[in-house]
Amino acid sequence: MNLTTLQYRIKDSTASKKLVVLGYSCNFVWNYCNQVNQESWKKFGKPLSAFDLNKLTASCAKELGLHSQTVQAVCEEYAKSCKQHKKRKLNWRSRKKSLGWIPFKGVGVKVSSDTVSYNGHKFRFWLSRSIASKVRFGSFCQDSKGNWFVNFVIEQAEIVREKNGRQVGIDLGLKTLATLSDGVEFNRENLTKKYELKLAVAQRANKKKRVTAIHAKIKNKRKDWNHKISTAIVNEYDKIAVGNVSSLKLKKTRMAKSVSDAGWSDFKVMLGFKAVRLGVEMKEVNESFSTVTCSTCLQRTGPSGLSALGVRDWVCSCCGTSHLRDVNAAKNILQFSVRGI
Ligand SMILES: [Zn+2]
Repeated sequence: MNLTTLQYRIKDSTASKKLVVLGYSCNFVWNYCNQVNQESWKKFGKPLSAFDLNKLTASCAKELGLHSQTVQAVCEEYAKSCKQHKKRKLNWRSRKKSLGWIPFKGVGVKVSSDTVSYNGHKFRFWLSRSIASKVRFGSFCQDSKGNWFVNFVIEQAEIVREKNGRQVGIDLGLKTLATLSDGVEFNRENLTKKYELKLAVAQRANKKKRVTAIHAKIKNKRKDWNHKISTAIVNEYDKIAVGNVSSLKLKKTRMAKSVSDAGWSDFKVMLGFKAVRLGVEMKEVNESFSTVTCSTCLQRTGPSGLSALGVRDWVCSCCGTSHLRDVNAAKNILQFSVRGI
């Protein structure tokens, strides 16, 4: 069984107002956790566990207008985040800076068709696709434009795709999102560039809402595109090898803008969980030298250095094979994964 998240947009504005208030209550619980956790560090030199936090907040749900399971979910998320980020204190959640967030457990909500009932409130949402199985947990959350959504995490039976034995190496790039070892290229719109002018105009006119809207649009488009390509790849191949390219390393260079546009890590995460869902094997390999190594004779005869990034094709001086740079890199990534480098 796999867990899948389904997201739906909440319909009316009165509902949104109610959700905003509930969101404030969740902030209150979060900030309370943050405070008592710091006190615990001061007094006892250790953090509070989710269990401790649950005990401390046990009776406050009703007063805050929240379902008791929501209070628990906030406490659990708080404890988890502290542990994950190895921090003694997390950011305070504030009305201005934090986007609304109300987590819940399956038992705390009732879903029927396009309506979700939560603690005596009914919220209607745009039923863009049906909810086939039982909701395990989820949340109401707000985006930067102030729209509210409801997320349902449901269990989904594993989909089994027939094996075809096909393998592929993927080279993630700046100009093309991904180049595959069999020569297929997935291009990506240069969104930063496309919206650069619109953004600049809005920023100069000090139209904050417009700026946020443009950023949200870029983010959505990128996500959409990443979804499409990752689905196409896992549907086609049984084994996937992808380079361990790090955006952080390249972000420090003059190519920073294109790198943040590339969104490699989001893409890899998406590819990863889709691969698991379909039983596709995915391996991340060290891609050092993948661009400079000839995939035919394995000599390092290719153009090297950041300045060589402009070179799109080259001929191996050793064996005479002519290479398209990205396809050659993708072939190497596949070879490296097979040889276990
Ligand atoms: Zn060669």
